Amino acid sequence: MKLSEIYKSTVPILSFEVFPPKPEVPLENVMGLIGNLKEYSPSFISVTYGAGGSSRDRTIEIASRIKREHGVESVAHLTCVGQTRSEMDRILADLKENGISNILALRGDPPRNQPDFDFLRGEFKYASDLIEYIRQKGNFGIAAAAYAEGHRGCRYIDKDWENLKRKVDCGVDVLITQLFYDNRLFYHFRDTVRKMGVKVPIVPGIMPIFNSRQIRRILSLCGASMPPDVLIMLDKYGESDQDMYRAGVEYAIHQIQDLMSEGVDGVHLEIMNKPELAEDVLKGLPRV
Ligand SMILES: Cc1cc2nc3c(=O)[nH]c(=O)nc-3n(C[C@H](O)[C@H](O)[C@H](O)COP(=O)(O)OP(=O)(O)OC[C@H]3O[C@@H](n4cnc5c(N)ncnc54)[C@H](O)[C@@H]3O)c2cc1C
Repeated sequence: MKLSEIYKSTVPILSFEVFPPKPEVPLENVMGLIGNLKEYSPSFISVTYGAGGSSRDRTIEIASRIKREHGVESVAHLTCVGQTRSEMDRILADLKENGISNILALRGDPPRNQPDFDFLRGEFKYASDLIEYIRQKGNFGIAAAAYAEGHRGCRYIDKDWENLKRKVDCGVDVLITQLFYDNRLFYHFRDTVRKMGVKVPIVPGIMPIFNSRQIRRILSLCGASMPPDVLIMLDKYGESDQDMYRAGVEYAIHQIQDLMSEGVDGVHLEIMNKPELAEDVLKGLPRV
């Protein structure tokens, strides 16, 4: 089923994000995890794409098997940085042959060790170029990334949201946000882009905090901010993995409850391939 159909639902849509394991780890590990996640009847499971396409084959295989073996809809993440149009044609054909109906279309980050990488020299400069291309070439549902705090590469937040509006106008069915921990930022973002004419569903990406070192690293990489209550929580529980995990799950439950009370279109749970994290968060919530 295409994303546009999925989000016609009148109840909030639950979805999960998983990532392909490292090449030396058997795929069956992640396929077992999918079996666990299926228990929660997600509307789809998305599979991330390793930086620079490093996990391409595994992303496609996992997304394909999620559908084929588990009967759950899937979304394959896909980045266009450094790709030519003819390479993209091959990837889109591969996705189609593998029965994948939905793509989360992204620009991607600069290659590692090339901080001065010039995106403007590529055949695809922005995610909007990829979205336009997919719309012309294939019959896919298309999701795109959004940033409640603005993308870290854009100096002005209002400029980033103008770019987002342009991207949506290229043919996006749904926006999924980068993680955030202060819902007020999301509400401000959502209200602002709605006023700018963005009409597609806007789904918060939620990553429950389960380890203080890991979350500090993730935030430093993606540029999302740490609100004071999360900082206090990390100071208080960060020394004990068990206490941190419990506090992080509790925080995610409150965060999602609040988002649901404000009528979000769905919740995209980034559970870092930890099914127990999905279970502990979801059991604290009414059916999402
Ligand atoms: C939900 C989600 C899932 C993700 N999954 C992955 C993944 O699987 N693999 C991966 O490698 N990365 C992933 N990322 C990270 C993403 O690749 C990076 O954040 C990347 O830096 C930007 O990608 P984008 O698609 O948002 O880019 P774009 O939408 O192209 O935006 C990139 C920057 O360019 C600016 N911009 C856009 N259009 C224009 C224009 N016309 N003129 C000037 N400036 C412009 C934007 O304001 C922004 O600063 C994900 C991010 C999110 C939020």
